[in-house]
Amino acid sequence: MTSSLQMEYDNACSGAWADLNPNKCGCRGKGWFLSDVDTWHPCRFHCDPEAGHPEDDRGPYTADEVSGIIARRMQMMRGIYRRFQEASGLDKKAFRAACEAEYALRFEGADEVQVEERWLDVADDVCTERVNERREAEARAEGYSCDLERRWEADALLEQEERAHGGW
Ligand SMILES: [Zn+2]
Repeated sequence: MTSSLQMEYDNACSGAWADLNPNKCGCRGKGWFLSDVDTWHPCRFHCDPEAGHPEDDRGPYTADEVSGIIARRMQMMRGIYRRFQEASGLDKKAFRAACEAEYALRFEGADEVQVEERWLDVADDVCTERVNERREAEARAEGYSCDLERRWEADALLEQEERAHGGW
C-alpha cells in the first residue's frame, strides 16, 4: 500500500502541478514547488536555474546578479506571452489589442504599474477564449450544434474503437 505522503511526493516529482500561467502554476510563478514532505521541486516553466535554490546557503545577491535575475525573468515571461499568442491563432497585433482591452477591463486603476503576472493571466484567458471560439466555429461548420456535441461523439467513437479492439 502506498502512503498519501508517498503519493504527494510522487506528484511533486511528476511536475503535474506545473502550468504555463504563473497564477495557475503550483510554483505560483516563483520557480520552485514545495511538496508536503518539504522537498523542493523546480518548475519546468518558471524555474531560473541560475538564480539558485530557495534554501541555498549563500550570501546576498550582488546588484549584477539581481539585474540578471530580473532580465531572465522578464525574458521568461515574454516567452510565455508569446506562446499564448501563438496558440491563440491571432497575429501579434490583434492579440496585443485583445489583451490590452481585457487588462484595462479587469485592472484599470488598480495599480500604477503593470503587473507581469496579470498580463500572463489575461493572455492565457484571451488565448483560451479564441481557441474555444475556433473550436465552436469548426464544430458548427461540421454540422454539430456545439463543440461539446462534437467531442461527445468523438469520445463515443473512441470507446467503440477500444471495445472493438478488446481494450475493455
Ligand atoms: Zn511554475
